[in-house]
Amino acid sequence: MKNVQMLAGWGNYPKVQSEVITPRHAHDILVTEVGKTIIARGLGRSYGDQAVNQDQLVASCIRLNHFLSFDEATGVLACEAGVSLAEIIEVVGPKGWFPAICPGTKYVTVGGAIANDIHGKAHHVDGSFISYVIDFNILLADGSIVTASREEHPELFFANFGGLGLLGLILSARIQLREINTTYFSQRAIVVQDIDEMVDTIEATNDKYQYSVAWIDPLAKGKNLGYGVLTLGNQAMQEDLPANLRKNPLKISPQKRLNVPFFLPDFALNNFSVKILNQLIYFIQKSATDIAHYERFFFPLDAINQWNRGYGKRGFTQYQFVIPMHDAKIRLRRILEMIAGSGCTPFLNVLKKMGKQQGGALSFPFEGYTLAIDFPISPQLFAFIPQLDQLIIAYGGRVYLGKDALLDQETFRKMYPQYQEWMKLKAKYDPDNRFSSNIARRLGLET
Ligand SMILES: Cc1cc2nc3c(=O)[nH]c(=O)nc-3n(C[C@H](O)[C@H](O)[C@H](O)COP(=O)(O)OP(=O)(O)OC[C@H]3O[C@@H](n4cnc5c(N)ncnc54)[C@H](O)[C@@H]3O)c2cc1C
Repeated sequence: MKNVQMLAGWGNYPKVQSEVITPRHAHDILVTEVGKTIIARGLGRSYGDQAVNQDQLVASCIRLNHFLSFDEATGVLACEAGVSLAEIIEVVGPKGWFPAICPGTKYVTVGGAIANDIHGKAHHVDGSFISYVIDFNILLADGSIVTASREEHPELFFANFGGLGLLGLILSARIQLREINTTYFSQRAIVVQDIDEMVDTIEATNDKYQYSVAWIDPLAKGKNLGYGVLTLGNQAMQEDLPANLRKNPLKISPQKRLNVPFFLPDFALNNFSVKILNQLIYFIQKSATDIAHYERFFFPLDAINQWNRGYGKRGFTQYQFVIPMHDAKIRLRRILEMIAGSGCTPFLNVLKKMGKQQGGALSFPFEGYTLAIDFPISPQLFAFIPQLDQLIIAYGGRVYLGKDALLDQETFRKMYPQYQEWMKLKAKYDPDNRFSSNIARRLGLET
């Protein structure tokens, strides 16, 4: 019997009907209905329409979740593509290894991490996920399974980082993990008054801290624009830990998860509630302890299960852009002013510095500043985002396709002019467009 579901990304917008299959082997995918397109889905943590496929097939990879081998001496892990970072941490953390790149949630799969070439809050030091992938096995449109690496099929290897699952279905990968001395981090919080001070403080602290991320008050205006808290951190050594934590320095203990049991009503999110919530975030950020467990340091939002329901049934989008370093202060101020005057209520703003680009043609990160802003979906937002897009283009920037739900084809092409390079590989590896999704159709990433 067909398993037809209403599916969405993490932002719950858009919601589309797709037929879901849950393969255990490559063979299960090969026998699916000819004539229908298919897209892989991991844990659905991309925000928009990346892992949905209206009236077509979605291959949920959650059963491709086996560990294949782990070399404790070198930290090389081979696993199927549906294994999540949460599962990796649980298995290798107590042995003194950890994923080298951690995004803001651990509920992402290895396949999803490759397809969006994910980054963490140390991109300026560590780069993106591609830096730690040795090779992967991918099921191509012609039914063959090939191993892609920097040496074998290098063009296929690179194009999959940021490739949104549109070149094939990744079955397994070998990744290099990072050796750790503890599962704790030493951290420091600095309160800053405006965007100029924020950028100056990030620049001044960059070479001393591996991890750096700033919360910016989304409702601040005028001279306070950019007011927020910069949190900096480094991996803690055993000698940095207080005596009680030294007894178990590699402690793995998933946080107890609170639950948002149902969608909150749309009116729950208004200027007043956003203000209260951001005051709470400010207080938590400002009072950061000197030593933090990885759960709090990397994944504070994971403590609340299905927090995305807090935005109500209308859903939300995360608009994340990166702009080059040049004139960053003036440009970030202009962007924040535009958002403040838009009438759209931004819920959460997160600013990070990024290092050099490493992934394929559609990979998001490049050297500069990236700001991520959560906006509830509203008619006003649909009118505002195209204006913001134009400013980002004028500044030589682009938005993160892994979070996008609103770009149109023309704007996308201006942001990613190198898309043509990627399209040549799409034509080579998937000439009949077997792999497709809603975002592929929206942005014209089809053959
Ligand atoms: C709270 C939160 C915080 C986040 N923080 C960050 C962050 O700091 N940095 C960052 O970069 N991202 C961040 N993200 C986004 C997230 O890391 C990416 O969207 C990631 O790709 C999600 O992985 P997933 O397994 O859920 O994949 P899905 O969302 O299910 O799919 C994402 C893409 O991967 C493709 N895909 C999945 N599996 C395969 C496969 N086996 N083969 C081929 N393609 C596949 C899908 O087709 C789709 O295009 C965050 C998301 C959330 C919800």
